[in-house]
Amino acid sequence: MIVRKSEREIDMIAAAGRVAADTIAHVGCYIEPGVTTDELDRIAEEFIRSQGGIPTSKGYRGFPKAICISPNDMIVHGIPGDYRVQDGDLLTLDVGVTLDGYVADTAYTFAVGEVSAEAERLLEVGQAALAAGIEQAQVENRIGDVSAAIQRVVEEAGFAVVRALVGHGVGRAYHEDPQIPNYGTPGRGARLSSGMTLAIEPMITAGGVDILVDDDQWSVYTADGSLSSHFEHTVAVTEAGPRILTPAGAALLQ
Ligand code: MG
Repeated sequence: MIVRKSEREIDMIAAAGRVAADTIAHVGCYIEPGVTTDELDRIAEEFIRSQGGIPTSKGYRGFPKAICISPNDMIVHGIPGDYRVQDGDLLTLDVGVTLDGYVADTAYTFAVGEVSAEAERLLEVGQAALAAGIEQAQVENRIGDVSAAIQRVVEEAGFAVVRALVGHGVGRAYHEDPQIPNYGTPGRGARLSSGMTLAIEPMITAGGVDILVDDDQWSVYTADGSLSSHFEHTVAVTEAGPRILTPAGAALLQ
């Protein structure tokens, strides 16, 4: 069931979204070669709590840390630990924040120092795909319009869309209906209406679409070891058009 939110509720989600987006910007200042993902996680948790928020991922289905941090060929759900960030890495931070009972979800892939031309392009295309998907989050459009717009941008660039991982509704809970695949057919799927709040999140690879789940049962890798990127915003569908509720992340996208 898709839960539509009131304007007041959307403002509550936006408040959570501000903290989530600011967390990414804040932790981003500490990303440098030599830092461990555990240290970045601690910085994230401290920041989220200093803003009155709760790290939504912590304890979610048993996830042990505050945020997900996924380097290089790891697509999503990386558990922060003793991995040391290296020059040339792609590093994805995925942050869920609960504030006053409402949840927002946002992700951003950073380039650490000098990265390959392919990695650079993977970031540009991931951002462009997210923007194209958000643009379609309009009243009377369908989920398939969002999905197809993302797929078109990614595949025209010669990259691949991960099939097994999808965007989702968000707001009262971390994961709500509907699912939002990053591939699809225009005009298909649930119709969008005002008050829907959606986590739109293209997860793309420089290789194939297949994934592997690590023995830790969380970390998801590309099966072929290719690089991946992941950009995500929480977006409200409104009569005035899509409203990005994780906006400091939007500033990072420039
Ligand atoms: Mg998400």
